[in-house]
Amino acid sequence: CGIVGAVSARNIVPILVQGLQRLEYRGYDSCGVAVHAGGLARARTTARVADLLAQVRDDRIEGSTGIAHTRWATHGAPAVHNAHPHFSHGPGVGAETSRPSRVGLVHNGIIENHEALRAKLQSKGYVFASQTDTEVIAHLVDSHYDGDLFEALKASVLQLQGAYAIAAICRDEPHRVVGARAGSPLILGVGQDGGENFLASDAMALAGVTDQIVYLEEGDLVDIQPGRYWIVDRTHKAVERPVRTVLAHS
Ligand code: GLU
Repeated sequence: CGIVGAVSARNIVPILVQGLQRLEYRGYDSCGVAVHAGGLARARTTARVADLLAQVRDDRIEGSTGIAHTRWATHGAPAVHNAHPHFSHGPGVGAETSRPSRVGLVHNGIIENHEALRAKLQSKGYVFASQTDTEVIAHLVDSHYDGDLFEALKASVLQLQGAYAIAAICRDEPHRVVGARAGSPLILGVGQDGGENFLASDAMALAGVTDQIVYLEEGDLVDIQPGRYWIVDRTHKAVERPVRTVLAHS
């Protein structure tokens, strides 16, 4: 339902959660945030975004790279284990589940071929912790990961059928958030100072943070890092998209 992502040099969790608050009017059944904090750390709740804020304070979840989501369930009941961000720690069960998670991912939309993809990933040893179509994407990205999160996302979206806006982070790449859009909106917010960059499903999520917005086009993929961003189209060709100044919302 709602997505916010950020790369920064400061603790970005308050901005991510405030971004979710600006998207609350759209409705949601659960919400969550994940950051790079050495490893990946997350908080999720079926309560309000205000409760998520209290939870991240209590748990001292802080980091300068992160993603956040308000969920409106389509696949899998509204429950904490189905709330985004979804994590993948690679294939394997048992003692291996204590391995640190490698990929964290949020998604708006519906993956039509989630059952076929889940079966394929299960046969590779991936173990699912939720009933969502979204968790399939997290494991798919992990399965393609070979040191470059953007390349892993590019390879993954080629296998997706359906509608999506996606934002993802990786344990091994602390200063990077990648995203993709097809059938569901995603925008890039160019930070005004300190080289911050943002992703969001709606420019409103970034009100008061930046008014410099790039509207991604259908099929685009985006890679944000501090002080730089990169967009490719559906054929993976690098593209320039205009930066627009949007009116600040209150
Ligand atoms: N299909 C996903 C889910 O059920 C995403 C729903 C949404 O857009 O919030 O978790």
